Amino acid sequence: MKLILLGAPGAGKGTQAEVICEKLSIPAISTGNIIREALRNSTELGLKAKSYMDSGKLVPDDVVIEIIRERLSKEDCKNGFILDGFPRTVPQAEALDRMGIVIDRVIDIEVPDEKIEARMSGRRVCGKCGASYHIDYKPSRDGVTCDACGEKLVQRKDDAPETVRERLRVYHEQTEPLKDYYRGTGKLRVVIGQEEVADTTRETLKALEA
Ligand code: ADP
Ligand code: ZN
Repeated sequence: MKLILLGAPGAGKGTQAEVICEKLSIPAISTGNIIREALRNSTELGLKAKSYMDSGKLVPDDVVIEIIRERLSKEDCKNGFILDGFPRTVPQAEALDRMGIVIDRVIDIEVPDEKIEARMSGRRVCGKCGASYHIDYKPSRDGVTCDACGEKLVQRKDDAPETVRERLRVYHEQTEPLKDYYRGTGKLRVVIGQEEVADTTRETLKALEA
């Protein structure tokens, strides 16, 4: 199954991607995670992306398209994959089509802006391995350190309220048009993000079959 997860920043795409990844044994590919890892390792890509990411802007299309082209050519993508956070613009979606990749389903997770702003303030991330948590919806075992590596959890710089508002603006302007792009293909399914993660997951799994 080749899947795309669409939705505003903080709608819960990453969490749903992890669940589907387990369930279907296909890799979850997050452009945000790939870029953050490049940042932690101070690679050329990381340095190029930093100012865009920190200010809530999108990293230029050609940069992320190359990241995805490379990632999708790996062996583990042969039987399918989940794209979390790509495509985010119409040119990115067109590039995916040009790569000859036929997507089976696009799941759009809808959460209203007011809820997003509140949710983002509770997000935490591990600065060492990149695992993400939420103080209410997905806390780590002790609430302060990473379950996977024990590092102290921190807030992402781009989760600051002003930056979140900019990311939402960018989402509505550049990413939301993708709903129409994929609605036309008959592959789009809309899932309303619920208060409880498990409830959203149930809806997502239904949407995979329907
Ligand atoms: P969220 O979904 O919570 O916004 P991500 O981790 O997916 O967070 O993305 C964080 C940032 O990484 C984005 O604000 C953007 O700067 C960059 N980014 C991730 N994916 C893309 C993409 N497909 N195109 C352009 N920029 C991207
Ligand atoms: Zn960690």
